[in-house]
Amino acid sequence: MSRRKLAAGNWKMNGLTAQLDEVRALAAAHPAPSVGVLLCPPATLLAPMAQALRGSAVTLGGQDCHAAAKGAHTGDISAAMLADAGATHVILGHSERRADHGEGNAEVAAKVRAAWAQGLIAVVCLGETEGQRDAGETLAVIGAQLAGSLPDGATADNTVIAYEPVWAIGTGRTPDGGQIAEVHAFLRKNAPDPAMMLLYGGSVNPTNASDIFAIADVDGALVGGASLKAADFGQIVTALEQA
Ligand code: PEP
Repeated sequence: MSRRKLAAGNWKMNGLTAQLDEVRALAAAHPAPSVGVLLCPPATLLAPMAQALRGSAVTLGGQDCHAAAKGAHTGDISAAMLADAGATHVILGHSERRADHGEGNAEVAAKVRAAWAQGLIAVVCLGETEGQRDAGETLAVIGAQLAGSLPDGATADNTVIAYEPVWAIGTGRTPDGGQIAEVHAFLRKNAPDPAMMLLYGGSVNPTNASDIFAIADVDGALVGGASLKAADFGQIVTALEQA
Protein backbone atom coordinates (compact mmCIF):
# COMPACT_ATOMS: atom_id res chain seq x y z
CA MET A 1 0.00 0.00 0.00
CA SER A 2 1.34 3.44 -0.89
CA ARG A 3 2.00 6.02 1.79
CA ARG A 4 -0.97 8.16 2.75
CA LYS A 5 -1.43 11.24 4.90
CA LEU A 6 -3.24 11.60 8.20
CA ALA A 7 -4.30 14.49 10.42
CA ALA A 8 -5.07 12.98 13.82
CA GLY A 9 -6.52 14.83 16.80
CA ASN A 10 -5.96 13.70 20.36
CA TRP A 11 -8.52 15.28 22.67
CA LYS A 12 -6.87 13.75 25.77
CA MET A 13 -9.10 14.22 28.87
CA ASN A 14 -11.09 17.02 27.26
CA GLY A 15 -14.54 17.10 25.75
CA LEU A 16 -18.17 16.76 26.79
CA THR A 17 -21.20 16.14 24.63
CA ALA A 18 -21.50 19.91 24.06
CA GLN A 19 -18.30 19.70 21.99
CA LEU A 20 -19.99 17.44 19.45
CA ASP A 21 -20.95 20.64 17.65
CA GLU A 22 -17.24 21.14 16.95
CA VAL A 23 -16.95 17.81 15.18
CA ARG A 24 -20.13 18.41 13.21
CA ALA A 25 -18.60 21.71 12.07
CA LEU A 26 -15.33 19.99 11.15
CA ALA A 27 -17.12 17.32 9.12
CA ALA A 28 -19.30 19.91 7.38
CA ALA A 29 -16.27 22.01 6.44
CA HIS A 30 -14.36 18.98 5.12
CA PRO A 31 -16.92 16.72 3.45
CA ALA A 32 -14.39 15.01 1.18
CA PRO A 33 -10.85 15.50 2.52
CA SER A 34 -8.02 14.21 0.36
CA VAL A 35 -6.16 13.10 3.51
CA GLY A 36 -7.22 10.92 6.41
CA VAL A 37 -8.86 12.80 9.29
CA LEU A 38 -8.98 11.07 12.67
CA LEU A 39 -10.33 12.25 16.01
CA CYS A 40 -9.48 10.48 19.26
CA PRO A 41 -11.90 11.75 21.90
CA PRO A 42 -12.25 10.46 25.45
CA ALA A 43 -13.90 7.04 25.48
CA THR A 44 -17.18 8.49 26.75
CA LEU A 45 -17.58 10.44 23.51
CA LEU A 46 -16.73 7.70 21.03
CA ALA A 47 -20.24 6.38 20.48
CA PRO A 48 -22.00 9.77 20.38
CA MET A 49 -19.26 11.14 18.13
CA ALA A 50 -19.65 8.16 15.79
CA GLN A 51 -23.33 9.00 15.65
CA ALA A 52 -22.64 12.70 15.02
CA LEU A 53 -20.15 11.84 12.25
CA ARG A 54 -22.21 9.20 10.52
CA GLY A 55 -21.75 9.56 6.76
CA SER A 56 -18.72 11.84 7.11
CA ALA A 57 -15.10 11.11 6.19
CA VAL A 58 -13.84 11.72 9.73
CA THR A 59 -12.74 8.53 11.49
CA LEU A 60 -12.46 7.85 15.21
CA GLY A 61 -9.90 6.40 17.54
CA GLY A 62 -9.40 5.58 21.20
CA GLN A 63 -6.57 6.99 23.31
CA ASP A 64 -5.50 3.71 24.91
CA CYS A 65 -6.63 0.12 25.31
CA HIS A 66 -5.83 -2.71 27.70
CA ALA A 67 -3.56 -5.51 26.52
CA ALA A 68 -6.12 -8.12 27.63
CA ALA A 69 -9.18 -8.89 25.53
CA LYS A 70 -11.50 -8.62 28.56
CA GLY A 71 -11.66 -9.33 32.26
CA ALA A 72 -11.16 -7.94 35.75
CA HIS A 73 -9.48 -4.61 34.94
CA THR A 74 -11.59 -1.96 36.61
CA GLY A 75 -11.57 1.35 34.79
CA ASP A 76 -9.79 0.05 31.69
CA ILE A 77 -11.14 -0.30 28.19
CA SER A 78 -10.57 -3.10 25.70
CA ALA A 79 -9.81 -2.87 22.01
CA ALA A 80 -13.09 -4.67 21.30
CA MET A 81 -14.99 -1.98 23.22
CA LEU A 82 -13.31 0.75 21.17
CA ALA A 83 -14.17 -1.01 17.92
CA ASP A 84 -17.72 -1.61 19.12
CA ALA A 85 -18.10 2.13 19.83
CA GLY A 86 -17.00 3.02 16.30
CA ALA A 87 -13.22 3.39 16.51
CA THR A 88 -10.93 2.33 13.69
CA HIS A 89 -7.68 3.42 15.38
CA VAL A 90 -6.18 3.62 18.86
CA ILE A 91 -3.32 5.77 20.14
CA LEU A 92 -0.86 3.64 22.11
CA GLY A 93 2.28 4.52 24.03
CA HIS A 94 1.52 8.24 24.27
CA SER A 95 4.17 9.87 26.46
CA GLU A 96 1.47 10.86 28.96
CA ARG A 97 0.57 7.17 29.35
CA ARG A 98 4.23 6.21 29.53
CA ALA A 99 4.87 8.87 32.23
CA ASP A 100 1.60 8.84 34.19
CA HIS A 101 0.99 5.09 34.09
CA GLY A 102 4.52 3.75 33.85
CA GLU A 103 3.91 2.07 30.51
CA GLY A 104 7.05 0.57 29.03
CA ASN A 105 7.74 -0.65 25.52
CA ALA A 106 6.74 -4.26 26.24
CA GLU A 107 3.34 -3.19 27.56
CA VAL A 108 2.83 -0.92 24.57
CA ALA A 109 3.67 -3.82 22.24
CA ALA A 110 1.15 -6.04 24.03
CA LYS A 111 -1.51 -3.35 23.59
CA VAL A 112 -0.65 -3.06 19.91
CA ARG A 113 -1.25 -6.80 19.50
CA ALA A 114 -4.59 -6.44 21.31
CA ALA A 115 -5.57 -3.58 19.00
CA TRP A 116 -4.65 -5.54 15.86
CA ALA A 117 -6.67 -8.52 17.08
CA GLN A 118 -9.75 -6.31 16.90
CA GLY A 119 -8.85 -4.84 13.52
CA LEU A 120 -7.81 -1.48 14.96
CA ILE A 121 -4.91 0.51 13.49
CA ALA A 122 -2.37 1.32 16.20
CA VAL A 123 -1.00 4.86 16.33
CA VAL A 124 2.20 4.22 18.27
CA CYS A 125 3.88 7.22 19.91
CA LEU A 126 7.63 7.58 20.37
CA GLY A 127 9.66 10.51 21.62
CA GLU A 128 12.59 11.70 23.65
CA THR A 129 12.57 13.88 26.74
CA GLU A 130 14.41 17.18 26.72
CA GLY A 131 17.14 15.68 28.89
CA GLN A 132 17.63 12.83 26.46
CA ARG A 133 17.88 15.26 23.53
CA ASP A 134 20.35 17.44 25.40
CA ALA A 135 22.42 14.34 26.15
CA GLY A 136 22.53 13.43 22.44
CA GLU A 137 20.46 10.30 23.01
CA THR A 138 17.49 11.10 20.76
CA LEU A 139 18.02 8.50 18.04
CA ALA A 140 19.05 5.84 20.54
CA VAL A 141 15.86 6.44 22.55
CA ILE A 142 13.68 6.46 19.43
CA GLY A 143 15.38 3.32 18.14
CA ALA A 144 14.78 1.46 21.40
CA GLN A 145 11.14 2.57 21.57
CA LEU A 146 10.60 1.57 17.94
CA ALA A 147 12.14 -1.86 18.41
CA GLY A 148 10.37 -2.48 21.71
CA SER A 149 6.92 -1.03 21.02
CA LEU A 150 6.18 -2.55 17.60
CA PRO A 151 5.53 -6.28 17.61
CA ASP A 152 6.44 -8.48 14.67
CA GLY A 153 3.85 -8.09 11.97
CA ALA A 154 3.68 -4.28 11.98
CA THR A 155 2.81 -2.98 8.51
CA ALA A 156 1.63 0.26 6.94
CA ASP A 157 -1.88 -1.20 7.03
CA ASN A 158 -2.06 -1.88 10.76
CA THR A 159 0.30 0.70 12.30
CA VAL A 160 1.07 4.43 12.19
CA ILE A 161 4.07 5.90 14.01
CA ALA A 162 3.86 9.29 15.72
CA TYR A 163 7.14 11.01 16.61
CA GLU A 164 6.29 13.19 19.59
CA PRO A 165 9.20 14.81 21.45
CA VAL A 166 8.00 14.92 25.05
CA TRP A 167 9.29 18.46 25.51
CA ALA A 168 7.21 19.71 22.58
CA ILE A 169 3.85 18.36 23.77
CA GLY A 170 1.56 21.11 25.02
CA THR A 171 4.47 23.53 25.45
CA GLY A 172 4.23 25.67 22.32
CA ARG A 173 7.80 24.64 21.50
CA THR A 174 8.62 22.62 18.41
CA PRO A 175 11.88 21.11 17.19
CA ASP A 176 13.46 22.90 14.25
CA GLY A 177 12.93 21.45 10.80
CA GLY A 178 16.30 19.73 10.79
CA GLN A 179 15.57 17.95 14.06
CA ILE A 180 12.21 16.68 12.81
CA ALA A 181 13.75 15.65 9.48
CA GLU A 182 16.55 13.73 11.22
CA VAL A 183 14.16 11.66 13.35
CA HIS A 184 11.72 11.04 10.51
CA ALA A 185 14.53 9.93 8.18
CA PHE A 186 15.68 7.56 10.93
CA LEU A 187 12.14 6.21 11.31
CA ARG A 188 11.68 5.81 7.56
CA LYS A 189 14.89 3.79 7.43
CA ASN A 190 14.21 1.68 10.51
CA ALA A 191 10.44 1.18 10.49
CA PRO A 192 9.49 -2.41 9.72
CA ASP A 193 7.56 -1.22 6.65
CA PRO A 194 8.94 1.76 4.71
CA ALA A 195 5.41 2.67 3.63
CA MET A 196 4.29 3.20 7.23
CA MET A 197 2.79 6.64 7.88
CA LEU A 198 5.02 8.81 10.07
CA LEU A 199 3.26 11.61 11.95
CA TYR A 200 4.90 14.45 13.81
CA GLY A 201 3.27 15.55 17.09
CA GLY A 202 4.02 18.34 19.54
CA SER A 203 2.52 21.85 19.48
CA VAL A 204 1.31 21.64 15.88
CA ASN A 205 -1.03 24.53 15.16
CA PRO A 206 -2.55 26.31 12.14
CA THR A 207 0.47 28.63 11.94
CA ASN A 208 3.29 26.08 11.89
CA ALA A 209 1.49 23.15 10.19
CA SER A 210 2.48 23.97 6.59
CA ASP A 211 6.17 24.27 7.47
CA ILE A 212 6.09 20.96 9.35
CA PHE A 213 4.25 19.17 6.53
CA ALA A 214 6.89 20.38 4.06
CA ILE A 215 9.56 18.37 5.90
CA ALA A 216 10.63 15.15 4.17
CA ASP A 217 9.07 11.97 5.54
CA VAL A 218 6.37 13.80 7.53
CA ASP A 219 3.07 12.22 6.49
CA GLY A 220 0.84 14.15 8.85
CA ALA A 221 0.42 15.17 12.46
CA LEU A 222 -0.88 14.04 15.80
CA VAL A 223 -2.43 17.17 17.26
CA GLY A 224 -3.48 17.78 20.85
CA GLY A 225 -4.71 21.23 21.87
CA ALA A 226 -5.30 22.53 18.35
CA SER A 227 -7.61 19.61 17.55
CA LEU A 228 -10.26 20.74 20.03
CA LYS A 229 -11.53 23.58 17.85
CA ALA A 230 -12.95 22.73 14.43
CA ALA A 231 -11.61 25.94 12.90
CA ASP A 232 -8.02 25.26 14.05
CA PHE A 233 -7.99 21.56 13.25
CA GLY A 234 -9.67 22.27 9.92
CA GLN A 235 -6.82 24.61 8.97
CA ILE A 236 -4.34 21.85 9.81
CA VAL A 237 -6.30 19.40 7.64
CA THR A 238 -6.21 21.92 4.78
CA ALA A 239 -2.47 22.48 5.24
CA LEU A 240 -1.89 18.73 4.97
CA GLU A 241 -4.07 18.51 1.86
CA GLN A 242 -1.97 21.25 0.27
CA ALA A 243 1.43 19.85 1.33
C1 PEP B 1 -0.41 15.20 21.83
O1 PEP B 1 -1.14 15.15 22.81
O2 PEP B 1 -0.14 14.16 21.26
C2 PEP B 1 0.09 16.50 21.40
C3 PEP B 1 0.93 16.52 20.40
O3 PEP B 1 -0.35 17.62 22.06
P1 PEP B 1 -0.15 19.16 21.61
O4 PEP B 1 -0.47 19.24 20.14
O5 PEP B 1 -1.12 19.92 22.45
O6 PEP B 1 1.27 19.51 21.87
